[in-house]
Amino acid sequence: MNASAPNVRTSDGFEIPRGRMAAHLRSYYKIADERVLGAMNTVPRHLFVPSALQSQAYKDNALPLSVGQTISQPFIVARMTELLELNGRERVLEIGSGSGYQTAVLALLARKVFAIERIASIASNAKERLMGLGYRNVSYRVGDGTLGWPIYSPFDAMLVAAGGPEVPQPLVDQLAVGGRMVIPIGSEQKVQVLVRVTRKEKGYTTENCGPCAFVPLIGEHGWK
Ligand code: SAH
Repeated sequence: MNASAPNVRTSDGFEIPRGRMAAHLRSYYKIADERVLGAMNTVPRHLFVPSALQSQAYKDNALPLSVGQTISQPFIVARMTELLELNGRERVLEIGSGSGYQTAVLALLARKVFAIERIASIASNAKERLMGLGYRNVSYRVGDGTLGWPIYSPFDAMLVAAGGPEVPQPLVDQLAVGGRMVIPIGSEQKVQVLVRVTRKEKGYTTENCGPCAFVPLIGEHGWK
């Protein structure tokens, strides 16, 4: 695990449901990357959901956040993270950081996370929560993530947690050669295919990684 991320919390009262969630990710969803399973079994997801929903935090579903946004289902967080094939040395760009839960998982598995969220209130809650939990290797920005974060590029990996009509060109341009991006792409606003983009010397290749349903990616290179 990353040295600048916090130590494992030993007793928060949620070890059993969190362990069950990780076991389900392994046995039912076939998540095989042990580092990803370890991070899912470490991050206190109950602290990232609205307090009234804490008892449901380790169940197998997405949950509502404020202002019509959602905290992604644990499976999709694990799947997208696994597809990035992180080894701990990467600089990762995350777009649509929402609650900050996915950000925390990435922060445990990569060197540095650059997180962009377009809704300021959501971003400031997440930032406060991550700081409070001791995640030091995260930088935050409020804005349109479809434009990327040019001054910190190139990135070794990118995770986009909202669905767009096509792969935003600025993100491809800011991905290092050999770098991976996972992004939901669909011609309708709420149904997408999870796509893994791998940057090549010239252009990029794409793989279809199955259906998914995310909130819309809104921005200059997303939905207007
Ligand atoms: N992984 C997050 C998912 C949050 S939902 C979680 O589990 O909490 C997707 C988020 O993407 C929303 O918070 C939404 O505001 C944000 N979003 C949508 N379009 C965006 C854009 N162009 N740039 C940055 N964030 C965006």
